[in-house]
Amino acid sequence: MLEHDVLVIGGGLAGLRAALEAQKSGVDVAVISKVHPVRSHSNAAQGGINAALTDRGDNWEDHAYETVKGSDYLGDQDAIEILCQEAGQAIIELEHMGVIFSRDETGHLGTRAFGGQQKARTFFVADFTGQAMLQVMYEQMIKARVRVYEEWFLTSLVIEDGECHGVVALEMITGTLQIIKAKAVIMATGGLGRLYEPTTNALICTGDGIALAYRAGAPLIDMEMVQYHPTTLKNNGVLITEAARGEGAYLLNSKGERFMEKYAPNMMELASRDVVSRAEQTEINERRDVDGCVLLDLRHLGREKIHERLSYINEVSMDFLGIDLAEAPVPVRPGMHYQMGGIKTDVNGATIVPGLYAAGECACVSVHGGNRLGANSLLDTIIFGRRSGEAAAIYSREKVDKQILESRVSQDENHLKEIMARGDNGDTPAKIRREMGVTMNDYAAVFRTTEGMGIAREKLRGLKERYQSVPVQDKGRVFNTNILFALELGFMLDCAETIVVSALERKESRGAHYMAEYPQRDDENWMKHISVKNTPGGPTLDYIPVTITQWQPQVRSY
Ligand SMILES: Cc1cc2nc3c(=O)[nH]c(=O)nc-3n(C[C@H](O)[C@H](O)[C@H](O)COP(=O)(O)OP(=O)(O)OC[C@H]3O[C@@H](n4cnc5c(N)ncnc54)[C@H](O)[C@@H]3O)c2cc1C
Repeated sequence: MLEHDVLVIGGGLAGLRAALEAQKSGVDVAVISKVHPVRSHSNAAQGGINAALTDRGDNWEDHAYETVKGSDYLGDQDAIEILCQEAGQAIIELEHMGVIFSRDETGHLGTRAFGGQQKARTFFVADFTGQAMLQVMYEQMIKARVRVYEEWFLTSLVIEDGECHGVVALEMITGTLQIIKAKAVIMATGGLGRLYEPTTNALICTGDGIALAYRAGAPLIDMEMVQYHPTTLKNNGVLITEAARGEGAYLLNSKGERFMEKYAPNMMELASRDVVSRAEQTEINERRDVDGCVLLDLRHLGREKIHERLSYINEVSMDFLGIDLAEAPVPVRPGMHYQMGGIKTDVNGATIVPGLYAAGECACVSVHGGNRLGANSLLDTIIFGRRSGEAAAIYSREKVDKQILESRVSQDENHLKEIMARGDNGDTPAKIRREMGVTMNDYAAVFRTTEGMGIAREKLRGLKERYQSVPVQDKGRVFNTNILFALELGFMLDCAETIVVSALERKESRGAHYMAEYPQRDDENWMKHISVKNTPGGPTLDYIPVTITQWQPQVRSY
């Protein structure tokens, strides 16, 4: 049986940062990833990573306050303080590791403005920051000789006596299921964007780890908080980074008005994402749209700046719409981008299941609360990746070894065999997935209603039932991507259900969650997290108080 002290699931930034830290403390560490690590979604991050460095007159308290305000006072302030306090050191460490951050005219690390923040504190590598960071983190991991199980797919967690003792995973190239025993497991499986259609997220963002931890008994929190990014491309939902607005781009309606004047007179286009997305959707709904979109205008930035700092999005606009950003505005609209909620953890990444940790987008320490600030997510992966790696290593050192029976694998084996043995009558995974994506985008988006969410819940129930008989066309075991799609769809349906039941529960509007019937924030009744736990009777909800340290809730305007 394969065996490690700490096993990290996920080769994105959170996973690799966690693995590096655990390895540093001398325990035996391995990483599993369903794709080659550098193909993780972290690779797609464009705009940058936030940190308040004191040598430029910035301070972490301002960053923390703006993060709290951005979260619409749902973020846990103890965790936000850690995030912002440790950010400066993390940036310097990344630079020392080899991340080639863009410089300013004086040769110092350059920063750009990002939404919801008064100071320009976003460090960046042109508009491919995630790629630059992930490549460096991967190199560091090779240097540290961390073992990687590449193209291995997690199918379940091994939980015995209420504790996590490892995982069952499918080695894709052979099609065999294996147990990997571990004293501590860190879930770093990223987001769930693909349960919406369209989304800015890569095809692999299917919420696997969120669903598997949930099935294993770990509660999820803040699941109703789904971020729609204000600038995604018409038709396909590809992201146009917030850095475009950070560098000075305007948002215009069909009348050529900079409509953000009406919604956020101070911060304009750089208000927080929930605010800008709602403003755009209002313009679109009230028919001041351009073919279902608003326009993002970069022309006044000039060709040189666009090429130097935003070359990637210029390429994207050219490739998909034939638009040269220096010549014409590009049509954009709000699109699903990020899941604020996830597996509930403490500030060291620990879940309530002993031996199970989580970090990155799949986790929720609730630093983002109701709405994440742009460029705070990469920071989240690095800070809480490191902390969970450290904590898991300590835990694994103290843990007594436990025998696991090889036969534990047969549960997953039987499940796979049952899927393979199905006839061809049911709906394909692609069909169910598409219906789920459209349903979520229709009803669990920028503006929500109780009726719409109810429809979504019913629809998901039906899809879950039909899912029980999805056929798998490829009956072989070697690199069977059909099977993976089918398993991923099951994860996505579980996640979708938790989003919808949590959203139906929250009877107010806060951050990304806007309910037409309850248009105001209601601190008296709803300044609390909604947690959702998997029980035999279905998802069961509970409340967890918000941690407040120094910032009392205030009216939120930009
Ligand atoms: C287009 C785009 C641009 C973005 N830009 C920014 C930005 O500029 N700044 C910012 O702060 N944030 C940005 N974000 C958000 C940020 O990039 C992500 O939240 C973050 O990178 C997630 O990192 P992660 O390590 O948690 O997960 P990921 O990078 O998504 O990695 C997940 C890993 O888990 C593995 N995995 C998943 N399921 C399984 C399974 N079943 N078995 C085995 N392995 C599995 C995958 O193989 C992968 O290695 C952006 C997001 C997108 C989509």
